[in-house]
Amino acid sequence: MDLTSIDSLSDDQVETILDEGERWAVSLRDGDGGDDRLRGRVVFNLFYENSTRTLMSFATAAQRLGAGVVRLPVEQSSVKKGETLEDTASTLGAMRPDALVIRHRENGAADRVAAIVRCPVINAGDGTNEHPTQALLDALTIRSHFGRIEGLAVAICGDIRHSRVAHSNAKLLARLGANVRLAGPPELLPDGLPALDSVDEAMEGADVVMMLRVQRERLERELGDQPGEYLRSFGLTAERFARAAPHAMVMHPGPMNRGVEIEDSLADDPKRALIMRQVEYGVAVRMACLDLLISGS
Ligand code: ASP
Repeated sequence: MDLTSIDSLSDDQVETILDEGERWAVSLRDGDGGDDRLRGRVVFNLFYENSTRTLMSFATAAQRLGAGVVRLPVEQSSVKKGETLEDTASTLGAMRPDALVIRHRENGAADRVAAIVRCPVINAGDGTNEHPTQALLDALTIRSHFGRIEGLAVAICGDIRHSRVAHSNAKLLARLGANVRLAGPPELLPDGLPALDSVDEAMEGADVVMMLRVQRERLERELGDQPGEYLRSFGLTAERFARAAPHAMVMHPGPMNRGVEIEDSLADDPKRALIMRQVEYGVAVRMACLDLLISGS
């Protein structure tokens, strides 16, 4: 089994990952170091794009379950000599890893690798397409805070068009019964998904406000915005956040562009921001995913 999209998972598997993720989060918080159920297993990390949270949390998750982790340093690898993704996949597959985690700038890259290697493949972000483990950790963060997902209004705001996080979250949170609202600057809205033009409208009464980074590295054309303009028009300011429900919480997948899509006062608000909680759940959810995919439990 592979995890290349939210659609890879059945409802039961989603439930299992969230329940197991919660269990791991509690035990890690209690100072438990995990266990060795994946002892003797090897996870390959293949990151063609930059990463802090996803890379480190997959490695930490694997090690907390006793697995070894090997990272291909892409910049020093044969990729730089022109090797294709397919040839790299065949080569790594022949080393018989027990799972392969891949992040790549091209949409569909994880599926291309999954078609070649025999072990489970986990998509750690492919271009603008999907980032399923981010959506799972976001769902768990919401569920653990509110005690439910069903019926909550979740405003996902910013560069929806280029955000694999938004695409996976829109699928998963809607499947779990949330009312998902997508909004952002007109030129950063998607073609295929229904979205609102106004961030203000999306925030109205929202229970969760999830802000997204402008993916400047993926823009076809520069936005040409003046300093401060994006924050004023589309970003999360205290004034705009006042439209959300009184108990609303702030999320962001990171990395944050402070002063662009989010104001410092909200990014760092200990009562409102769930951002570090998302990071914490990232390790726990990835432990649950690796366990499900490698040992099938
Ligand atoms: N870290 C997330 C991703 O890789 C979000 C972002 O980069 O803005 O998609």
